[in-house]
Amino acid sequence: MQKILIVSHCILNKASKVEQNEADLAEEYELRDRLLSEIQKQDIQLLQLPCPEFVMYGSRRWGHVKEQFDHPFYRDTCRKLFGPVLRQLEAYAGDPERFEVLGIVSVEGSPSCGRSLTCSGNWGGELSDLEETEKRVRGLKMIQAPGVFMEVIQGMLAEAKLQVPILTMQETVSFLTCQNQEKEGK
Ligand code: SF4
Repeated sequence: MQKILIVSHCILNKASKVEQNEADLAEEYELRDRLLSEIQKQDIQLLQLPCPEFVMYGSRRWGHVKEQFDHPFYRDTCRKLFGPVLRQLEAYAGDPERFEVLGIVSVEGSPSCGRSLTCSGNWGGELSDLEETEKRVRGLKMIQAPGVFMEVIQGMLAEAKLQVPILTMQETVSFLTCQNQEKEGK
């Protein structure tokens, strides 16, 4: 039986992330290292989702909030990007004797790839009005909601009647660690 995980793009390719102070990502990177180590230990196969932000806005994009991506064109592009992955998931689900799809691993906090945590705020407009820009930036909040890409993925999985859980990185690490301990009889 081949076990398969679908991972958000930047879990395998940090270069796709918004340019920022790497120290701010220490906690996420520590989790990512634990995840990749379990994946390797347990010989889990990987499918990498595309990065919708990199595809649409490239490497010099600003950080965004969910509201800025929550519009028909971004959602439509997310649908197009996930379509080929969905077809692959359908093919694996059609052969349950050989394949087990464990889930899709999200990136908490992202306006695109968060599963239950995303960033929200009244952002947008000209940056040249520094006072107004600062006020808007300070209004940033983390809210309990999915990012736009994960929301689109959830909808497309439901339309295809595919039961594939969307997991946080923390949930995936806990699940894989438990599985490994059971296997080793600890
Ligand atoms: S959009 Fe998703 S894959 Fe791309 S950098 Fe953000 S969290 Fe990672």
